[in-house]
Amino acid sequence: MNIPEWIEANKKSFIELSDQVWQFAELGFTEQRSSGLLEAVLEESGFEVQRGIANIPTAFVASYGTGKPIVAILGEYDALPGLSQEAVPYLKPRQEGGNGHGCGHNLLGVAGLAAAQAVKEAICLGDAKGTVRYYGCPAEENGSGKTFMVKAGTFKDVDLSLCWHPDVYNGIVGVNVLANIKVNFRFHGKAAHAAYDPYNGRSALDAVELMNVGANYLREHLIPDARIHYVITNGGGSAANVVPPLAESQYILRAPLLQQVNEIYQRVMDVARGAALMTGTEVEFIFQKGMSNLLLNDTITDVLYEKMIQVGPPEYDQQEIEFARQISTTCPQSDMTGLLIKMYGKEARALVPQDAVLLSPVMPNVQMDFVAPGSTDVGDVSWVIPTGQIETTCAALNTPSHSWQIVAQSGMSIGHKGMLYAGKVMALAAQEFMTHPERLKEARDEFERKIKATPYQCPIPDGVQPF
Ligand SMILES: [Zn+2]
Repeated sequence: MNIPEWIEANKKSFIELSDQVWQFAELGFTEQRSSGLLEAVLEESGFEVQRGIANIPTAFVASYGTGKPIVAILGEYDALPGLSQEAVPYLKPRQEGGNGHGCGHNLLGVAGLAAAQAVKEAICLGDAKGTVRYYGCPAEENGSGKTFMVKAGTFKDVDLSLCWHPDVYNGIVGVNVLANIKVNFRFHGKAAHAAYDPYNGRSALDAVELMNVGANYLREHLIPDARIHYVITNGGGSAANVVPPLAESQYILRAPLLQQVNEIYQRVMDVARGAALMTGTEVEFIFQKGMSNLLLNDTITDVLYEKMIQVGPPEYDQQEIEFARQISTTCPQSDMTGLLIKMYGKEARALVPQDAVLLSPVMPNVQMDFVAPGSTDVGDVSWVIPTGQIETTCAALNTPSHSWQIVAQSGMSIGHKGMLYAGKVMALAAQEFMTHPERLKEARDEFERKIKATPYQCPIPDGVQPF
């Protein structure tokens, strides 16, 4: 069976599906309509669907086939708040203040579905052997859906997993990302009249502010790749004449390794305790979520790269190039070529033409000693099953992530082309592992070797609920 041809022949339905999810634009853990739609489509095409897995209503798994190997394809479908946007190359919200697919997860979820359905066809024709599973993974943004799914044992019997993410270039994921945790610091003080008897009050807001000062002094003494960000989620109320009895901040701590994140967390907790001591308040640590860094797998990466070359990246027509050009004029300046060189080596330079707006070439298959300054909950999946990932061009080169510009391009043909390319590559890679047990064994052996050297530790403590 020719997998790319099958996906191409059915592309109309995948594009429609992606556009529907794009319009739903539901936030993490509330993706009822998006997950419901994908579940229904998979069920209708013969997959067995289990809904609400890992105690998350919008998480699901759809399976087709029997026996081993079990190859998983990961999908996401959550949107971001405040990024509502029409599919046009200038700022025009569909709904003022509404949500938008600013990370292209509508494309992400449907490419995985297309790949799973293509593998199903291959199984039916005897051109692949085993079971293909589509994992519907909610709340990648701000929710670590997959980490909770890993913790619940959802991937236990899976042999290998494949995934992708929309980006501004085509290439394998050969660099690491940052592990992170998100924690709220809730300070409890004592209310009092701010003029009449402030000496009887203990300000929880003072504690929040002093903690932030302490954390900012801490930055200098952390490893350069570490990141600390915070917001004040409860500023202590709206009346300045009341000493705030309750205030809260939220911190995200990131570093290349989970162990480093945990060390930073210990120090930030000390800063919070110090702020509580100074202000006579009490502090409560409320753990929200966490994600591990990636455990890369060279064997899977090699197969994915092979298939990226085999399928060949999409080409663009004049209209798409013009759309991308217009989008580019609205984007901030960025040194994407510099970043690509850090991720793919010096050879990447020759692949980025000076006036490029849409990047078509596939970046070299190399692993660089560089940590990309982002995070993904695919990290945790990669520590429990051998996992490989690619990125495909779904947006103009200078497009910043989590932006209205991504929303616009995820709802039109530039995004669609990247989605179909990713679907074809993942399906071919899945078929490769289902028909070549020696390559699957190689991927598993590599995984076991790495896990033995550094065992997995889940970043989320027991008892923490996803929402
Ligand atoms: Zn994303």
